[in-house]
Amino acid sequence: DGYAAPAPQHRQDRSGETLPEPAAADQPLSRFVNEPDTDPALRANQDWAREAIRISAQEGWLEEQLAPESVDTGSVEDLVASTRDAALEWAARPAAERARILYRTAEILATRRGHLVSIAAAEVGKSVAQSDPEVSEAIDFARYYAHSAMELDGVQNAGFTPDRVVLVTPPWNFPLAIPAGSTFAALAAGAGVIHKPSKPSPHCSMAILDALWEAGVPREVLRGVYPANRDAGKALVSHPGVDRVILTGASETASMFASWRPELQISAETSGKNALVVTPAADRDLAVSDLVHSAFGHAGQKCSAASLGILVGSVYGSERFRRQLVDAAASMVVDWPTNLSATMGPLTELPSDKLHRALTQLEDGESWLLKPRQLDDSGRLWTPGIKDGVKPGSFFHLTEVFGPVLGLMRAGDLDEAIELQNATDFGLTGGIHSLDPAEVRTWADRVQVGNAYVNRGITGAIVQRQSFGGWKQSSVGLGSKAGGPNYVMMMGSWHDTTQPA
Ligand code: GLU
Repeated sequence: DGYAAPAPQHRQDRSGETLPEPAAADQPLSRFVNEPDTDPALRANQDWAREAIRISAQEGWLEEQLAPESVDTGSVEDLVASTRDAALEWAARPAAERARILYRTAEILATRRGHLVSIAAAEVGKSVAQSDPEVSEAIDFARYYAHSAMELDGVQNAGFTPDRVVLVTPPWNFPLAIPAGSTFAALAAGAGVIHKPSKPSPHCSMAILDALWEAGVPREVLRGVYPANRDAGKALVSHPGVDRVILTGASETASMFASWRPELQISAETSGKNALVVTPAADRDLAVSDLVHSAFGHAGQKCSAASLGILVGSVYGSERFRRQLVDAAASMVVDWPTNLSATMGPLTELPSDKLHRALTQLEDGESWLLKPRQLDDSGRLWTPGIKDGVKPGSFFHLTEVFGPVLGLMRAGDLDEAIELQNATDFGLTGGIHSLDPAEVRTWADRVQVGNAYVNRGITGAIVQRQSFGGWKQSSVGLGSKAGGPNYVMMMGSWHDTTQPA
């Protein structure tokens, strides 16, 4: 039904979590409930986080973690062939068995929360506050797709054949949740999976695969590989034995894959240029807080991040609103994850040309309300930036920059705000802050985004409650959204069984 009760308040301490005995094979799956995040107010959990970060900062620790196998153009052939063979046996198992394994995976991940958080900190510089919810999301995906697998079993005889081999190519910005979700969905459907981690985050991916293997997914059904060079990557994506690619990343990557092999099925969630509209009927304090969190959480490195604040009428004119926004952003503590008080962390990579331009340059009519500053020699640590007066049709209005810069735009009325919001090629997330139901309805009817949020930040979709996916150029070949109904059912083909063969 899409509307679940709010997640229970989490008061338990994270230290000393142990793996329960495996559930008996004939026991039904428990009802799906979202896994709660760690409560940072508890002293025991603060100690837990400190320990996770201490471990992550140890010299050489990351290199000791599990790494993907390297494949060259020659070994791609064997890799695909052996995964195709193994996948037949996996697909033939009762869905209940695959579901059980996913539930077991969720339990294993829950006991490795600290380890996963450590890897994300060491590998991409993600703070505990940002990676802890990713572990919850990964656990949610495992359980949610286990239930989807059970539903699929009911329709399997009605003409569903899972893909034999799905290639999963996740991004580095959610190095735990997205690799987990894509892989779990394909396995739930009964497909074999070749998982190619993102370059900056191979160990995060492998920690997820490790939990799956331990839970009982055969090694041959699930492979973690990294292409030795570009030719090997191209050979893998272009291989006719790969039925589908699940890609989360830049739209350019999706186009490149499609050009390598036009008949390849691509299920891709790609770039976004997302705006949050604030009308004069908004709770302005809440709007400030949601804008700041959506723009600067994980230093803006989310496809879902708020890059534009579209301020309607008197909100744009309000000096008080501006000052609150700037004060809130300026008070963020920007530091590496080793500082547990940091509220904004580093960029994972040096700024791209687009981001560098957004961080350092103004366009016609723009001015800095808060000018970003580079904090150290790494080139990766930047304070948040807010630019005012972003003009319709400008670079900043239309281009995804993927970093900690928020642009403010003026709209005379709600109609104009919606027009500005819909003007980009993308349509991933978007929000409105307004306590006027008529305004909200008008906006919701017309906004062109996959995830439309009302009186809430625009990042942090929650499995089952807010299935996640895009519209327009934010999505390629995706009929349904991650963490929602029918996602698993896309991982295969449907044929009409009402016609005689
Ligand atoms: N699912 C994430 C969110 O809702 C965004 C994923 C992404 O950046 O690709 O914030």
